[in-house]
Amino acid sequence: MTKKLSDFQGDMFYFIFNFPQYIDVEITNEYRHQFEKEVLEYPNENSGPLTLDTYTYYDSWELQFFKDKAVSHKFYESAYCPLCRKTTPFVHKTPKINIDKNLIQNSIGSYSDINITEEIELYEESMSQKVNERFEALINTMTNNTSILPLHYKCYNGHSLQSILKFSNKGGKYSVSKIGQYPPVFEFDISYRKSLDLKIERKISRELYTADKLKADNIGVGAVVYLRRIFEALMDETYETYKDELNVVSEEYMKKDTKGKIDVLANYLPSHVSDTKGFLYSLLSEVVHKLPEKKALEYIDTLKDAIMIILEQREEMKEKEKRRKKNVSDMNVIHSNKSK
Ligand SMILES: [Zn+2]
Repeated sequence: MTKKLSDFQGDMFYFIFNFPQYIDVEITNEYRHQFEKEVLEYPNENSGPLTLDTYTYYDSWELQFFKDKAVSHKFYESAYCPLCRKTTPFVHKTPKINIDKNLIQNSIGSYSDINITEEIELYEESMSQKVNERFEALINTMTNNTSILPLHYKCYNGHSLQSILKFSNKGGKYSVSKIGQYPPVFEFDISYRKSLDLKIERKISRELYTADKLKADNIGVGAVVYLRRIFEALMDETYETYKDELNVVSEEYMKKDTKGKIDVLANYLPSHVSDTKGFLYSLLSEVVHKLPEKKALEYIDTLKDAIMIILEQREEMKEKEKRRKKNVSDMNVIHSNKSK
């Protein structure tokens, strides 16, 4: 189903920075209207009042949104700045441009009658056309006839953020997609932010980074390939660390399937691996080998979260093991000093 820009009404910041690039989003560009009823007179006691009905028509909210970008530098409510790595107020900073006076006002027409007749349908058709013409005129002015519109924002701490929109017009219907942005989409992703706080090896953080980057570009299967690699690396690492205690020689271990390997390592793996009883790995593999892109995108957040939980648990386990070893050596020192 095609996304509509109006789906982002109330959170356009999300579209501008969090939404994947290169996806065409439909601009419905429907006029808005208001209805008023005015009582003119009461002709007689038995019939109702004589009223005048008035419809006033206004620009579509999309038109209003982009118009605001052309003429004002409004403060946004708070949003996440990846460069501050926290939520901060934003101000819109796209250079102001001069737009036609006629375009600045929002009301575009009104229709009044004592009896609203079918005539109003014709009038509304002309309003639809007018809104489309106004949108076209605005976009042409704002993009200098290139269809490309860079939007600039500044966070409270002075970081500059930018997103580049491209408008298309097919048979009179407008759509918009993002063709670039800084910082990149994945840096706005909550699970990416969490991975920045993890103390993990460069190799793993690079694979996580690639998974996030692919996900942000809507490449689901590709992203899951990297999550599966992390899972496999953690299994192998656990085996290498504990092989002396495991009583399973390398050749024997390598011959086992993943479920068998999980059984061997059960006591040494983060508990979330056992929680998912091998299902996590089989799902990772299924997504990589069998499932369509659409399913991969549907599952990716859950799969990523599972890997993140495992990585967090692994970090805690390592921390505990470090403390345990230090404590053993401290106790030994006390012990040998006492016996002197
Ligand atoms: Zn910032």
